[in-house]
Parts: sequence; C-alpha cells; structure tokens
Amino acid sequence: MNLAILGATGSIGQSALNLAASFPDKIKITALTCAGNVESLARAIACHHPKLAAVMTSRGRRQLKTLLVDLGVKPLPKIICGPEAYLEVAAEAEADLVLLAIVGNAGLAPTMAAVERGRRVALANKESLVIGGELIMPLACKTGGQIIPVDSEHTAIFQILGGLKTPAIVRRLILTASGGPFRGWKKDELKKVTPIEALHHPCWNMGPKITCDSATMMNKGLELIEAHHLFNVSYDNLEVLIHPQSLVHALVEYIDGTMSAVMGPTDMRLAIAFALSHPDHWPLLPGPAGTGLTDLSSLDLPRIAFNQWRGHLTFEEPDYETFKALSLALAAGRSGGTAPAILTSSNEEAVHLFLTGAIGFTEITRLVQQTLETLPSTPLTSIDQILTVANEARRLTKSFSLALRC
Ligand code: NAD
Ligand code: MG
Repeated sequence: MNLAILGATGSIGQSALNLAASFPDKIKITALTCAGNVESLARAIACHHPKLAAVMTSRGRRQLKTLLVDLGVKPLPKIICGPEAYLEVAAEAEADLVLLAIVGNAGLAPTMAAVERGRRVALANKESLVIGGELIMPLACKTGGQIIPVDSEHTAIFQILGGLKTPAIVRRLILTASGGPFRGWKKDELKKVTPIEALHHPCWNMGPKITCDSATMMNKGLELIEAHHLFNVSYDNLEVLIHPQSLVHALVEYIDGTMSAVMGPTDMRLAIAFALSHPDHWPLLPGPAGTGLTDLSSLDLPRIAFNQWRGHLTFEEPDYETFKALSLALAAGRSGGTAPAILTSSNEEAVHLFLTGAIGFTEITRLVQQTLETLPSTPLTSIDQILTVANEARRLTKSFSLALRC
C-alpha cells in the first residue's frame, strides 16, 4: 500500500513510520509533511524515500534540502511549501491512503481536499471532524471519499460495527476515557496544576495538545462530536465512561442489552495499522519468524487484572462539574453550526497559553466558556467561514486571557 502521511513528525506520524519500517512489504511511503521539526522529517525521508515532501515555509524547504544533501539522500524528493502544499499532498500525492495526522484545526482544509478528491483517508485529526463534520461527511457521500477513524475509541466502534453505518439495532455507543492524570481531583487541586503535570498521561504517550486535552477532558468532549459525525448518531445515544485501565477502548450496546467491546494494548500503532489493513488485521504481535512489532506484547490479562489493577476493570461516570470542558463540548456539539469551531479554536489558543505558562490550568476551560458565551453560533456554510470564526475565537480567547492578568 502506498501511504502519504500529513503530520509525519508528530506522535501519530512517527508511530505510522515505525509501522512502515516494520512492514516494508506492506507499506510504501510516498509523501511526508510536517510544519516545524524539519530535522525529524529529513531523517524520515532518508529512511523511507518518499517522492514528495511538504513543509510550512520556503526557509524550511531550503533547510530540508540542505539536510537531505548532507544525509546523502538520492534522488531528492520534490519539496513543496506553504499551506497550499498540504492541500496538494492531501489531494494529489500518489497514495492508496492518506493519513491525516496534523494536529488541530489546521487539519481541516487538507482533510476536505482529500475527501473532495474521493480519497481513502485515515483520519487521526479529530479536530477537522469536530469543526467541519457537517461539511465533510456529506461531501464524502457525494465524492465516494472514505473516512477511516484512527482515534482509538472510534476505531474500536468502527471494528465492532464493521464500518461507519450505525444499524437500528444499536442503542448506545460508549467511549471510554482514562480520566487523565487528574482523575478524582477537585477544582481547588486543579488550580495548581503545572504544564509538566498535565503532560504526564497515565496510559497513553501522545503529542502535547491531545495530552493536555486529556487532562482537561476536552479530548473526550471532542471525541463525542467526532463520533456523532462519523457514526451519524444522536448525542442522546452517545456516552462517556471513565475506565482508568484503558484496556476497553469503546463499547456498543444493542437494543437487547447485549454489549460488544474492543480491548487491546494502549498503543496507537494498532489503530493506525487497522486503518491501513481494514478490513484485514495484520500480524502486529511478534511472530516466530521475527516478524511483527518486536516491542509489542499481547495483553496479559491475568497479570493486568490481578497485579497492576488488583483484579478490577473499573467503569465510572465522568465528573462533569469539575471537568467542565466535557460539558462545554457536549453543549457545543448539540448546538452544531460554528459552535464546535469556536470551542476547538478557543481551546487550542488556551492550551497554547497554558503550556507556555501564560495562564493556569483551570483557566483553559474558563476561557473557552467565556469565548463560547461571547461568540454566537451560526449555521455552517463553508471552510472559509469556519476559519474566520476560528480566528475570531482565538483572538477573543487571547484578549480574555490578558484581562485575567489585570
Ligand atoms: P503532534 O503534535 O505530535 O504532531 C502534529 C503534527 O502536525 C506534526 O508533524 C506537526 O509538524 C504537524 N503540524 C502542526 N501544525 C501544523 C500546521 N499548522 N500545518 C501542517 N502541519 C502541522 O500531534 P499528535 O499527538 O500526533 O496528534 C495528531 C492528531 O491525531 C491530533 O488531531 C490528535 O487529536 C489525534 N490523535 C492523536 C493520538 C496520539 O496518540 N497522539 C491519538 C488519537 C488521536
Ligand atoms: Mg481517543
């Protein structure tokens, strides 16, 4: 399979490249992109020899070319740059599958470009569905574009349902959440949280933005909106359960009360590989012939159940009051229109402000709420409208953060 990866230097992108290195007979990398971190992209190009690469700026392009020459890469890939370059890779790269692993709202335009072209897209970038799901899903129906979820909860549901269609026999889709590093904490304790603490996830090793979103529980809120669009399910039939062990990734409840669940190791390579191999499963576990991922092991349930978690797999209701981001996301999802774009853009800005030390942890959610209360939601019409609203939400969030300092 020919694979193009947008966001190749991030956590998901690197996991995908690790898979490609382990399964050279199954995956051939044809295009890679990144925003910053050109050195990491150069190393990936030297290893996988794609024909096409894209970076953010012309300076980045010059830097990448120099690095590749120094690394002795021959022939050099075609290197393109600027926001348009990502659209070109998404729509035009020679690939059977496009992995969208850009972080944040910046993933929207490339996702739309790939779907518009009727491509097969492995979608890790949840934000594009959150802010543009009302446009992306109908567009995919029109163009024949195929969206395969990469988020662990959504790939679990996708595997149970055998696709994106939710049959009438399904009563509820349940997304599990680890609860993040501050599960069980109360508001006063959260006020003192530092970026280092927020970036220490108990179960998953991920990029900084999603890790911080997991700590506030905004991530699970975004995932509810993602699931609503992907599986065309009403918010009344979507639920979140806190499951600190993170072994059950999602559950589907049928109208007769039966439940199906997907369990597995907390390793995103499984979700990425399934998006590539669907409807097949590849032999990821290490085999006798030295195949598979050497650092992956089968879930040792007796050990996990009886040692690490003292015999319990636990499930509990989220604390919607303390982790208000979840309630805010749910309300924005139910409002629809531009509300989710206001939510995610404000959140992106607030997370950035928190990680750079400008605001406190609890102020992330406070600023998002203030921005949602200030900007009215309107029906969705176009990407341009979403991007305009997103910029305004970001600007407002920043100005509210300055007011916090006075
Ligand atoms: P990351 O921050 O580690 O990597 C992001 C990648 O996007 C990098 O390659 C970066 O160069 C690129 N990028 C950043 N800004 C860009 C821009 N403006 N234009 C183009 N490229 C840009 O992020 P990640 O943790 O790998 O997450 C990627 C996406 O996958 C996110 O939407 C996240 O919610 C989703 N996701 C991640 C995980 C995980 O385990 N990391 C799990 C589920 C879903
Ligand atoms: Mg997830």
